[in-house]
Amino acid sequence: MSMDVQNYRRYGLVIKKILKLKNSICSIFDIRIGDGRGTLFWHDPWFENKPLISRDEFRGLKIRRDCAAATVHNIHNGLWVSVITRVLEGKRAIGHLNGLNICNMADVYLWKAEENGKIKSSAIWNVIRERGQIVSWASLVWSLKIIPRHRFILWLAFRGRLSTRDRILAYMDIPDANCVLSSGFAESIDHLLGGCFFALGLFGIFLLYSWEL
Ligand SMILES: [Zn+2]
Repeated sequence: MSMDVQNYRRYGLVIKKILKLKNSICSIFDIRIGDGRGTLFWHDPWFENKPLISRDEFRGLKIRRDCAAATVHNIHNGLWVSVITRVLEGKRAIGHLNGLNICNMADVYLWKAEENGKIKSSAIWNVIRERGQIVSWASLVWSLKIIPRHRFILWLAFRGRLSTRDRILAYMDIPDANCVLSSGFAESIDHLLGGCFFALGLFGIFLLYSWEL
């Protein structure tokens, strides 16, 4: 494969990721409509921070190419309003538009992630990050009282991703998948943290010792 093709593929992936972010990133912009000429009616997030074109309600509505390129100004002047208001969501958007104070000033895009002229990376991160489910063990694993290295190992254990021999065996041919501490048992997370007599003995001594301290 030539370098060019590889590069195109790589850029393609990056662009796809950026396009995916496009909708979520809208919530860190605030559009203040002035004359409505600088804002696209369908594609800019001027109404409730989400482009109208991306809403499910408009899926069945056939939008002509010239209408798709309309600005807020065009629609405010009455163009295509009868088509748009066929859909409830369109009625809401037009209602919102009629309530706006359209003036002669240019539209303004405000960057909500900014505070006192400085960009807040935490605000941007909160918009673009993928949110997972909050797990019951999160506060234990990410406790500041635990050494970072141990936190990471604990996190892997809770995720079931520690490189124990039973897992290694799935992708690599290893001669022995048994626990090195006690023979006859497969080395798994459950075994190491619960069933291994040798490990349990060690934990017992350690707990006893820390109790005496
Ligand atoms: Zn064992």
